[in-house]
This record gives sequence, structure tokens and C-alpha cells, in this order.
Amino acid sequence: MLENPGKDEDFSHELIRLADIFNALGKCWVCNTDIVRSDALAAAIVDHYGLEGDEADEASEALERAISDSDVEVGDWEDPSVCSYHGNVIRRDD
Ligand SMILES: [Zn+2]
Repeated sequence: MLENPGKDEDFSHELIRLADIFNALGKCWVCNTDIVRSDALAAAIVDHYGLEGDEADEASEALERAISDSDVEVGDWEDPSVCSYHGNVIRRDD
């Protein structure tokens, strides 16, 4: 499924499903949006396939890139418990 993403929407949907399976799915506590933890998901997939060394590095890099290029929410860069939108909102309120 990762090899052939097809439509972006399907890919995002698959990513969220995968993240759920690999315990790498969170939710924004403000708006309940699904948040895919790209680093956690990449690490879990690499681990699942037993990759090591350079292979593991390349795979997780490619996975993280694919995830951040997709339409899925990966959370705020500073506070991963909120989506990127609410991360900005919260920072603005400080
Ligand atoms: Zn949110």
C-alpha cells in the first residue's frame, strides 16, 4: 500500500490506519483531529520489517518524507499533542 499510494486521500487514510495499528496515532486535544506521529510510525515500520543500519535509516527517512508530504496531520512541531493549526493558535495566545 505504501508503494502505490494512488489518490492522496486514500494514502492519507491508509497512513492513519497504519499509525493506529502501530500505536503512532494521536489526536489534537482541541479539535480531535487524527495526528500521525511520523517519527514513531517510521520507527515502528522499520522495526516491523527488521531493518538495520543504512537500510533502516533510508527507510525511515523515506517514510517520514512520504508522511510529511501527504495530507495527514503530523501535529505541531513544538507540541505534538495538538495539530499544527492549534499549535499556532496556542502560541499566539501566550
Ligand atoms: Zn486541532
